[in-house]
Amino acid sequence: MSETRHNWTKEEILEIYNTPLMELLYNAATIHRKHHDPNTVQVSTLLSIKTGGCPEDCGYCPQAARYHTDIEGNDLMTVQHVKAQALRAKSSGSSRVCMGAAWRNVKDGEEFDQVLEMVRTINKLDMEVCCTLGMITENQAQRLAEAGLYAYNHNLDSSEEYYKEVISTRGYEDRLETIDNVRKTNVTVCSGGIIGMGEKAEDRAGMLVALSTLNPQPESVPINALVAVEGTPLEDQTPVSIWDMVRMVATTRIVIPETQVRLSAGRTEMTREGQAMCFFAGANSIFAGDKLLTTPNPDVTKDMEMFKLLGLNPQKPFIKKMQPESIEAENSQYQPLGEKPKWSRPEHTIERNLEAKEKAKAIK
Ligand code: SF4
Repeated sequence: MSETRHNWTKEEILEIYNTPLMELLYNAATIHRKHHDPNTVQVSTLLSIKTGGCPEDCGYCPQAARYHTDIEGNDLMTVQHVKAQALRAKSSGSSRVCMGAAWRNVKDGEEFDQVLEMVRTINKLDMEVCCTLGMITENQAQRLAEAGLYAYNHNLDSSEEYYKEVISTRGYEDRLETIDNVRKTNVTVCSGGIIGMGEKAEDRAGMLVALSTLNPQPESVPINALVAVEGTPLEDQTPVSIWDMVRMVATTRIVIPETQVRLSAGRTEMTREGQAMCFFAGANSIFAGDKLLTTPNPDVTKDMEMFKLLGLNPQKPFIKKMQPESIEAENSQYQPLGEKPKWSRPEHTIERNLEAKEKAKAIK
């Protein structure tokens, strides 16, 4: 088995990314077969448990309150609602439910307690539970772990340099700190990014440097193609080509060999042939369900048809790591600390955010 390296340089990764395509595909597929069953793909269902009204300024996100999109916001879902959705996801082949809340960071209190109850409920359905709730402290990560959380998602989005062009309300180091807090528990890390935001190949390589040099490397790496939503600062971005997507998947597979490479947003724009090429290049996870938080996603029956056509099988839960135990709230070892962590607010502005602000004012 090839050894996992934690010292990749940007130059080395760029060289891989720019390898002639057939050679790149062959190299990635070879590494993929050494570490994974090439006919198994993990299926996750992404559930937006609290939509819209987010105070952050992520340039790609229709849930940021400051942009003028037609997203309908809603308050935190009830535990019963989440349970019903999880059961539906399970019956259609999903082994994991990922719950996303449009928060800057987690705050101790009733809402977080409700999320912890959701985690316990889904874990008891024998499904892997993942959350993406924004920045979290170590104590909050421990409480999630105790409730039975299997994975925590916190994307790096892009290279450290390009990140500043897309987000100004928090820094790259805050992202890394949250990942580090999750790493102090037995919860696995899911972290990846988005291509097609106007970044260069160097930035894509830069993001993979940041992810591959983490030790251990993330257990899951989502690769998203930007879904340019009207009203966001990135609404006019040219859609990313399938060739870029395949190159990114293959390069990720080579530099982070043991991870589950997750084909995420942007699949509606991809043909089955394109997706098949991504699976060949090492993608071994998809998000199912007709929505990815707020953007469209292929219908799950269509996905299952594609699986049949390609001879792929959905992965069973807890293949990579044992199912965690769920400790009930009354037996918890961790108390809410009511911390007010000083997550940074970098002092830079992004020109296109200013333009979006002006546009929003003009619409009003
Ligand atoms: S990506 Fe997350 S943190 Fe950023 S604006 Fe959207 S919901 Fe908020």
